[in-house]
Amino acid sequence: MIESPSKMLIDVQNNIAAAAKRAQRDTDDINLIAVSKTRRSEEIIPLLEQGHKSFGENRVQEAMEKWPALRSQYDGIELHCIGQLQSNKAAEAIATFDVIHSLDRISLLKALAKEMKKADKYIPCFLQINIGDEEQKGGCAVKDIANLLEAATNADIPIIGLMCIPPADMEAAPFFALLAKLADEHDLPNLSMGMSSDYETALTIGATHIRVGTALFGPRIRNAE
Ligand SMILES: *Cc1c(COP(=O)(O)O)cnc(C)c1O
Repeated sequence: MIESPSKMLIDVQNNIAAAAKRAQRDTDDINLIAVSKTRRSEEIIPLLEQGHKSFGENRVQEAMEKWPALRSQYDGIELHCIGQLQSNKAAEAIATFDVIHSLDRISLLKALAKEMKKADKYIPCFLQINIGDEEQKGGCAVKDIANLLEAATNADIPIIGLMCIPPADMEAAPFFALLAKLADEHDLPNLSMGMSSDYETALTIGATHIRVGTALFGPRIRNAE
């Protein structure tokens, strides 16, 4: 199958390289996660053909429907779970994903620990932080980070960093800076922050994993929630 290369991917890669240069960072330390939620396989294949390996989905069910077939065609795919995860989906999430960005509460931690042990598959996780202290939003409260980290250590869950989604309609930079400070305080090396509208800002503040959808695939026309 011949696919035309995605110019949007090339543009984002160039923007990342420029932002890294400005911040005097090595692009090897930056992971671009192509957020493919709502996108059909035909939209994803051009990126795979260009050698892109890292993708993000926010629903377990959708990921299970799309990715096994793509994985059988392309080697080295790394699939990131970036959406809220229900505890009763823990086993499926561990079977489907390589990294989880949305570990945010003890009940989920317990479910993941149990299933990781059962599958003998200890996949790296980020703690998702409710960085703007928003009532309706997922994420662990800042004051609860130490507790959740300790519980993860006790349950053998590898925590590799912190993740956040800053409040909508507010300048993101101060929230990114706070997340970076919290990760530093807890000796966590990775920061999952920055989306299409603010990934370059996130990169100047130390993001190691940026989650970019619209800038790679265009506006989402199908419902993502
Ligand atoms: C959808 C989504 C993104 C990507 O958003 P864009 O604005 O399309 O880049 C990033 N992170 C999470 C958690 C998402 O749900």
